[in-house]
Amino acid sequence: MPTEALSRLLLTREPGEAAVRAWTDEIATDLLGRSSHVREPNFTEIGQDDLASLFTAYDGRFLDGLCGGILGPGTLSFRLSGRMTRAGGKTTRFERRGHTPRFEIAVATSILFDGFGEDDREVTACGLPCRHRLDALQRIFEHELVHLAEFLCWEISHCGRARFRGIARRLFLHRAHTHQLITHSERAARDGIVVGSRVNFAFRGQPLTGRVNRITKRATVLVEDARAPRWSDGRRYARFYVPLEELRLVEADRGA
Ligand SMILES: [Zn+2]
Repeated sequence: MPTEALSRLLLTREPGEAAVRAWTDEIATDLLGRSSHVREPNFTEIGQDDLASLFTAYDGRFLDGLCGGILGPGTLSFRLSGRMTRAGGKTTRFERRGHTPRFEIAVATSILFDGFGEDDREVTACGLPCRHRLDALQRIFEHELVHLAEFLCWEISHCGRARFRGIARRLFLHRAHTHQLITHSERAARDGIVVGSRVNFAFRGQPLTGRVNRITKRATVLVEDARAPRWSDGRRYARFYVPLEELRLVEADRGA
């Protein structure tokens, strides 16, 4: 039974970091070479046929082509969604009475295209940092492929459960199982740090307090300093670039 071969593979295969990196790089290079939309790592267009190419490439390299062998003709479709705003992807199993089930893998273009602006290129998907959109697309697709493979073997698939997490970690080195792409500024906002927040941080061992002026990969924090240049509000500030994880929100912001 091909589903038995697939389930055995899913539960045991662990290609290791070097092979995973080599295979995913080959898949990226192939896509960039062949696609009529995805022509550069920070591509601005993508087609459904690109998702179909990714499926064939990933299934072939990582899953011995078993998913393609199990799926009947016309039972897997691909969709690009401009409306999904939280999840980077979604895989759905459609049960049809008296028919073989049908599957759809959707990828959120809204999230892909929003995620890599000039100021916030660094995005995390599946717990891994993404250098560009193509990295993010591949991580999202890998996550969805694990859903599809689980559906084919066991009819249900939940990415919060141990089986899914084990497969995603062994096959693709994923460190997290969320569908979300998280940008640095989003992560900071989740910790309550936004532009205007008062924050503490240490600079050369000295505790400083300032106000966040800008958030990209790091935060720009302005700290009042009599020796520093005067700003438009008439006060003098020294400017510090601080990694977001080193900032602590000043809890009670006592107003003037
Ligand atoms: Zn999932």
